[in-house]
Amino acid sequence: MSGSDEMAARFLAQRRSVLARLRRAAGQAGRAVDDITLIAVSKTLSPASIRVALRAGHRVFAENRVQEAQAKWPALKRDFPDAQVHLIGALQSNKARAAMAIFDAIHSLDRPKLAQALADEMADQAPDLFIQVNTGSEAQKSGVLLADVPDFIALCRDTYGLPVSGLMCLPPKGAVAAPHFALLAQIAADCGLKKLSMGMSDDFEQAIFQGATHIRIGRALFENARA
Ligand SMILES: *Cc1c(COP(=O)(O)O)cnc(C)c1O
Repeated sequence: MSGSDEMAARFLAQRRSVLARLRRAAGQAGRAVDDITLIAVSKTLSPASIRVALRAGHRVFAENRVQEAQAKWPALKRDFPDAQVHLIGALQSNKARAAMAIFDAIHSLDRPKLAQALADEMADQAPDLFIQVNTGSEAQKSGVLLADVPDFIALCRDTYGLPVSGLMCLPPKGAVAAPHFALLAQIAADCGLKKLSMGMSDDFEQAIFQGATHIRIGRALFENARA
């Protein structure tokens, strides 16, 4: 096999294994597989490695830096027009315009200044917006504190006219993740939001049990592929 055939075979095997885990967890939770979007986290991957995944049929990806996405995705989207790329990393408000132009969803809406900047750049085709919630109340982590979520949703919607569709969280490193997922699901339900971006390679089954609609998977799909 050539190097690129090997890369394709490895990606397909890892994707099959992640999808099998996803199906098993959805089955145990009594949920429909189609209600869960598998986002392939392609941060730090080369365009060549991402193309392997695109050619294998994967379509939903995520990056954590605006500049990296700007460098990689215009060409990838030209060749695969139905591909989507989501932003899962911090967004500076002076990059709101660039982010609106390239991302199909933003999972890191976390403060009034950013809400205003995004509102100023709103176009007909707005990305899907997720509010990032700091479920562990960690001082160094971005995200809205749990107690502030209802007011922040109201600010985004009523003051800025932003169509918020869900919540996102990143549990503290080393913590048991399930309680954080449960908190996020509860506050989303209280606020009438349907989408939940939660769960990564090591804990996405727990997230699916708690209602995740978007799981963000890097290592389990791309181990050995990062060039
Ligand atoms: C990198 C990253 C992921 C993917 O994590 P893995 O453990 O590699 O699956 C998910 N979410 C965010 C916000 C990330 O930065």
